Amino acid sequence: MTAIPNRFDYGFSTTPATATPASPLKLVMFDSTAVETPRNRTRGLPRPDAGFRRLEATPELLADLQAASTRLESAAPEEIIAWGVENYAPYLTMATAFGPEGCVILSMLAKIAPETYVFNLDTGYQFQETIDLRDRIAEKYGIEVDLLQPDLSVPEYEALNGGPLYKTNPNQCCFDRKIKTLKRASEVMHAWMSGIRRDQSVDRAQASVVGWDKKFGLVKISPLANWTKKDVWKRINDEQVPYNPLHDRGFPSIGCWPCTAAVADGETDERAGRWSGMKKTECGLHTISEQDGSGI
Ligand code: SF4
Repeated sequence: MTAIPNRFDYGFSTTPATATPASPLKLVMFDSTAVETPRNRTRGLPRPDAGFRRLEATPELLADLQAASTRLESAAPEEIIAWGVENYAPYLTMATAFGPEGCVILSMLAKIAPETYVFNLDTGYQFQETIDLRDRIAEKYGIEVDLLQPDLSVPEYEALNGGPLYKTNPNQCCFDRKIKTLKRASEVMHAWMSGIRRDQSVDRAQASVVGWDKKFGLVKISPLANWTKKDVWKRINDEQVPYNPLHDRGFPSIGCWPCTAAVADGETDERAGRWSGMKKTECGLHTISEQDGSGI
């Protein structure tokens, strides 16, 4: 199959645009009832062994993580993933929103440790294209990403709050639909991997390859911390890694449909289009909650 360049690297699209924006940050409207994932499509979190104990951020652990991060600073992502598997499996997990970075890590994980429990924070507000990508990944790599859902369905949640909170209080919505779910996952894990890159944003520029994530009480591993957007798309094109087709339709970063907008050609901010018109730039998963050596 011929490699497909991505429009954000090479300036053109190979896919007919069906939702092309006419102006910067134009919102594309979707029908939420059409994209909520059936609630029986989640396997649920794995049960840890009886002797499982959560990790504590002792000075020794923090020193070990710091040393590992320094050692792995120039390592290939595959080596970093292998280090994570060696040190933390079976209590190593990965959260993915099926962004280009997540898809690349999944392609690597398929060769290193395909049995790793990987989950998606299925808020009920994701694009259909995102849910479909989960199935394409499963077909190509045999990794069935679990769709981990909040306790309340979208109709239940919106009824409880008198309407959609993403319009009035998106921080609370992200907390309820994403952070709480990740906290639940963190209770049965020791470490998590994420696809963040340092060059994505000011917040993410401080990410270490390996660090302690104080917010979730987990070791956080970022195999692509040192990769660039170009590195990611080169790997996608070289190995035909499945990716979200919305990237070819003006969406540089894809989250929930109510909070994601297509952007104009030429926009260079990779996080543009997320919570456009608001000060919010992150859902809270990758922001630093505390100083003194916590991870991101
Ligand atoms: Fe809610 Fe928007 Fe956050 Fe999704 S991204 S959880 S819809 S506020």
